[in-house]
Amino acid sequence: MIKIAVLGAGVNGLTCALKVKEKYPNFDVTLFSDKFTPDTTGDGSGGLWYPYLCGNTSQEQLMKWGGETYVFLHDLWYQGGNHISVMPMYELYRKKRETQRPLWADLVFGFRELDMRQLDYLSRMHSINYAAGRTFTTFVIQAPKLMEYLYMRYNRLKGKVVNAKLASLSDPILHNFQVVINCTGLSARDIVPDSRVFPIRGQIARVKAPWLNYTIIDEDSGHYIIPNDAICVLGGTHQENDYRTEIDDSNTEFILDGCRQMIPGLEHAELMKHWAGLRPGRDAVRLEAEERDGKIYIHNYGHGGSGLTLFWGCGNNVLQLLEKHLSSIKPTTTNSKL
Ligand SMILES: Cc1cc2nc3c(=O)[nH]c(=O)nc-3n(C[C@H](O)[C@H](O)[C@H](O)COP(=O)(O)OP(=O)(O)OC[C@H]3O[C@@H](n4cnc5c(N)ncnc54)[C@H](O)[C@@H]3O)c2cc1C
Repeated sequence: MIKIAVLGAGVNGLTCALKVKEKYPNFDVTLFSDKFTPDTTGDGSGGLWYPYLCGNTSQEQLMKWGGETYVFLHDLWYQGGNHISVMPMYELYRKKRETQRPLWADLVFGFRELDMRQLDYLSRMHSINYAAGRTFTTFVIQAPKLMEYLYMRYNRLKGKVVNAKLASLSDPILHNFQVVINCTGLSARDIVPDSRVFPIRGQIARVKAPWLNYTIIDEDSGHYIIPNDAICVLGGTHQENDYRTEIDDSNTEFILDGCRQMIPGLEHAELMKHWAGLRPGRDAVRLEAEERDGKIYIHNYGHGGSGLTLFWGCGNNVLQLLEKHLSSIKPTTTNSKL
């Protein structure tokens, strides 16, 4: 029997557990975590497909992982009933800049730089002088609904779930597992340990604004407006090495004032909730296999502000690494119950 432990039940861990179980239904797959939906980082996030704050992760990787996730979201949206919205997205800059066309621009629908006529229109609409910008069609996820969907598929295959907080990758609970897939996000800093992982605090507000049907990001002020089919996310902050998860009133004021300047009608939007979470920052996403103490570890963490943008493609890459290492894994004969 091949026993696989997946650490972390965020969007990345759950996706990996599901993918392994779907590809290898006879493997014993256990998802270990101390937090579950709706309390993971992704659950609180903006849910926008957009490569953002993921360090120097290469363009090729963003294109592969992001592209596969974009196609997956497109399919889910097309099926309907999955609470995924499709909408135009405007990425705007107040100063002129030389932007390089990202590789992923060829994957998304309708990517183009905005011309002066469109910038003038958006500047008038949002009372801000924009000097540059681009647009494309993207997807917005209601993350807790996506997690529900992924669990439905995982549970159908009788994948196991254990609520536990692991002290390290050598935790005795992992003794009988030949493969450990490490998706612990920010906690990889301690659990691996990996000092290249750091928090990027983000605070957002959720409001009801069902009349909005496009996403807008002001890259210079940091403000963004991300509607989906139920609520609208207003953001936001990105504060490096800040571990606070309580609401900061000055951040609240910054978010509401900035977003209301862009769309004054938000004054009338009912405020639902404030939230602050910690993005798992790293200089680049870590997705690689490592042999240590007779086990295969596959690391998949450090997705920064792009976990919901990369998760499906990263899960595919984890499967490829697992496949590559399978021949060196000896099946266990233990009768352990875990
Ligand atoms: C304000 C904000 C807005 C965001 N908006 C977006 C967005 O619009 N689009 C986007 O793509 N991304 C966005 N993100 C980023 C996104 O939320 C993250 O990249 C993503 O959630 C990371 O997922 P993960 O599964 O790797 O980690 P996490 O969701 O953090 O999950 C880690 C899991 O590991 C478990 N764990 C950790 N340590 C241990 C341990 N010792 N023992 C057992 N279990 C452990 C935790 O309990 C948790 O279940 C946003 C983030 C924030 C904070």
